[in-house]
Amino acid sequence: MINIILFGPPGSGKGTQAAKLLEKYNLLHISTGDLFRYEIGNKTELGLKARSYMDKGELVPDSVTIGMLRNKVEANPDVEGYIFDGFPRTVPQSKALDILLAEKGEEVTMLLELLVNDEEIVSRLLERAKVSGRSDDADESIIRNRIEVYKKNTTPVADFYAKTGKTHKINGIGEIEEVFERLCGKIDVTCSC
Ligand code: ADP
Repeated sequence: MINIILFGPPGSGKGTQAAKLLEKYNLLHISTGDLFRYEIGNKTELGLKARSYMDKGELVPDSVTIGMLRNKVEANPDVEGYIFDGFPRTVPQSKALDILLAEKGEEVTMLLELLVNDEEIVSRLLERAKVSGRSDDADESIIRNRIEVYKKNTTPVADFYAKTGKTHKINGIGEIEEVFERLCGKIDVTCSC
């Protein structure tokens, strides 16, 4: 299996690139943000809980997020691998993911970190808000809070996987196709697939 963590700040292009990667490598895309939005859309208890955090640009508590992720992985056992997008976002989430994959005799293959600067993020997300209708994209102060939360809580995840040599940094600025080629280049070298 190839188990890829697609990593990077909000607006770094994880969703866009994941859609292209899953096609090329035949992987299951799991986006915790999308899973939460699905729950919100269905007005479930989990969705209501998640919404109160997402609206402020805060992280949903690990206990909620990890349980939801585990359900999704366990519901899809027969796949060639996973692309995790927006997960793990904290070190405890990383440890939970490692345990979950180890139970399947698997491990994280690599973490690909898309590098995009703050000002580019803000302008991309404000632009995305016009089509996505996402309230957390429409307000600059919420976007800046998400960037701060990313730097404080989420960047340690890249350091966590760097300890085992699994973290790779990729320039996330450029045309979608260019960034995709950079990601594929790294995957192909690492997996020889
Ligand atoms: P983006 O990457 O653009 O911030 P996402 O759709 O991945 O967008 O996430 C939107 C929001 O959902 C986050 O700001 C956070 O509140 C919540 N969320 C998503 N994934 C996680 C996670 N792994 N842990 C905690 N909260 C999460």
